[in-house]
Formats: sequence, structure tokens, C-alpha cells
Amino acid sequence: MTHQNHSFDTRSVHVGEEPEFLDGSKNEVVSPIFLSSTFARKEVKNHGQFEYSRSGNPTRFALEKRYASLEQTEYGLGFASGLAAEATLLFTLLKPGDNIIGFDDLYGGTKRLFKQWKDNYDITISLVDAAQPHLVEAAIQPGTKLIWLESPTNPLLKVCDIAAISEIAHRHNVLVIVDNTFLSPYFQNPTVLGADIVVHSVTKYITGHSDVVGGAIMLNDKSLYEKIKFNQNALGAIPSPFDCYLVLRGLKTLSLRMEKHQSNAFAIAEYLENHPKVERVYYPGLKSHPQYELSLKQAKGFGGMVSFEIKGGEKEAVQFLECLELFTLAESLGGVESLIEHPALMTHSSITKKEREQAGIKDSLIRVSVGVEDKTDLINDLEQAFRQI
Ligand SMILES: *Cc1c(COP(=O)(O)O)cnc(C)c1O
Repeated sequence: MTHQNHSFDTRSVHVGEEPEFLDGSKNEVVSPIFLSSTFARKEVKNHGQFEYSRSGNPTRFALEKRYASLEQTEYGLGFASGLAAEATLLFTLLKPGDNIIGFDDLYGGTKRLFKQWKDNYDITISLVDAAQPHLVEAAIQPGTKLIWLESPTNPLLKVCDIAAISEIAHRHNVLVIVDNTFLSPYFQNPTVLGADIVVHSVTKYITGHSDVVGGAIMLNDKSLYEKIKFNQNALGAIPSPFDCYLVLRGLKTLSLRMEKHQSNAFAIAEYLENHPKVERVYYPGLKSHPQYELSLKQAKGFGGMVSFEIKGGEKEAVQFLECLELFTLAESLGGVESLIEHPALMTHSSITKKEREQAGIKDSLIRVSVGVEDKTDLINDLEQAFRQI
């Protein structure tokens, strides 16, 4: 059955796991975990659909179908991590002398990866505030190959106009890649807005239970897909069948989880905005957010990530974080449990202090991945920690 006319919630449950009654054997409701690393053939010169698990595996195949369906693209590809997906993309798309334009508030690990390419392969990187599309256009140079965006960004939750930037990029023959990790395909589909390639850290909302490290790429262009698929096999940064099974399972509740993440995040953002010990709150769903209107226009929701600056500095932030009982002090995000962290000392410590200051990541900044627990319990925990500082 094709699920083309079905809504997101239906596709996230079914695509890739339809029982087929061809010979009565493939009638399982849940995709099995195909552990076999290799597949037998009848003839020396011909192999069946699967040959060797690095190049293709039935559990991964089921998941890749679902990836494409959820981002509304033709093709989906699974990887061992978000960064493995990103590295495979850079390896496929760039040659010496090329230039990448990136949002200045990109995920720290993405910036670290860019720096490897810059130092080793003669690639130049231009980081700009993509919340202002004219700055992206001004940064385009003859060697510019791709524009790398996140929206909202990590950790400042800046939003950029994906449609406007895609239009600018395509006028200059430049590809647009959007890291859609923060909103998940449930709230935003960048290729529908005009972007060329979507990349995800599946580790976050897509899996949703903090028990898989994974990545994904979704796109429509057939020849680009074939090149990336070639390198998925050639570089070999593939996800294990067991991880693919866990992601297929996690995806079935993506819409339920995202709705709850968002309603809890709203409650927490409003609570923080009215708190005397808070300097500033970053959440695209607040009317005070500079790109609130744009978020409403290009996404179906605002997600579950909230950042805020506590009054004071590093000392107050660290003290506050260590007083929390229900929030887990940990890197990562997008799981059912609420996580909290200090970007300058944790997720973004791999970028220099100067770069952090330029990007506006202060030592008083705290990032919250709001889970699906009861919102009153979460707010009570924040309140008891505020009272202790
Ligand atoms: C976590 C993350 C990544 C990296 O993904 P891994 O799965 O950890 O390799 C990339 N982009 C964003 C926005 C992330 O949050």
C-alpha cells in the first residue's frame, strides 16, 4: 500500500512496515532485525535486492523509506550518527577551493567538522547571521558550493527564512542544506520550503528515547541521491540493524511526543519569562522572539527546546544546574526525559570563547530540552533550584 495520501501521523506508524502477503512469509507487522551481514545469491553474476549489509540491509531499507516519507522527499538514507551523515555529505559535495556558507549559530560539532575540512582540504567557511537573508546573499562568492542552515539554531534558537534563502541560493547555483534536528519532520519540512537536502541527528527527536546515536539524509534529486548513496557504502558510516529497529519503533510516537514536548516547552518558556532571576528567554513560540512571525509561517510548531540566560554569570548558572533534581544534567536533547545543560562549558566547549561571544553564547546561558513529563513537576523543580541561588 502506498501512503502518499495519508497524513504524517499515519505515515510515521506504517511506512516501511507494511505486511506483504506475496508468499505468506512477509506478513509480520513489525520489521524484523535482519542481522545477516551478507546475503546469498543463486547466480555468480547476479545478486538479489540485498548483497552485503553495508550497501543495503532490509531493516535499514524499511527505515530509509520512512525517512523519505516523513520529510516528503523521494529518497532517504540512514547513517551511524548525525555527524556521519554530515561528513558523508561534505565528502560527496566538496572539492578543494570550494566555499561553505554556514549559519553562525550552528551545532558545535558541525562547526568542528567544517574546521577539519578547512584545515585539511582547502575549503573556506563563511559564518553569517542567516536570520538576515541579505547577509547570506552578500557572502556568496564564486566558489560557494553550499549554504548550511539550522532553524531554529542551537542553542540560541535563531530562525532563518528557509524559502527566501533557498531562492537566493538557487539564483547563484548553490545548494541549501538544512539540519532539521530541532523541529523534526513533524514540525518542519525544509525541502517543501525549497531546500535541497535535509540532514538529521536521528539521536534526538526522531529516536526520542536517548538510546540510539544515528543520522539521516533526505532529498529529492536522483543524481545527488545516487552519489550520496555510493558514499554511504564507500565510507561505510551505516547504522546497525538493531539501531534501525529502535528508530522505526521510536518514530511511531513522533507526533505524540512532539506535541507534548511543545506544550511543556511553552509552559516553561512562559514561566521563565516571568521569573525575576531570569535575564532573557529564547523560544520561537514566544511573541517576544524576533522571528516569531516567520516561525509561524514556515513551521507547524516551535519545538521543545528552550534556552535562557540566568541573572549573574557562570557561577549562578552552574549552581542552578547542580541544584536541579528532576532535570538531568546532560548533553543531547530530544528524548522523553528533560535534559538541561550549560552550552559554554558542555556542548559548545569545542568552539573558542571568542567565537562563542561573537555568536552571543554567554556564560549565563542554559539550554533546556523539555521532556514529556508533567509540566508542573518540571516547573516545581526549576523553582526549587532558583530558590537555592
Ligand atoms: C546532535 C546534533 C548533531 C550531531 O548529531 P550526532 O547524532 O550527535 O552525530 C547535529 N546537528 C544538531 C542540530 C544536533 O543537535
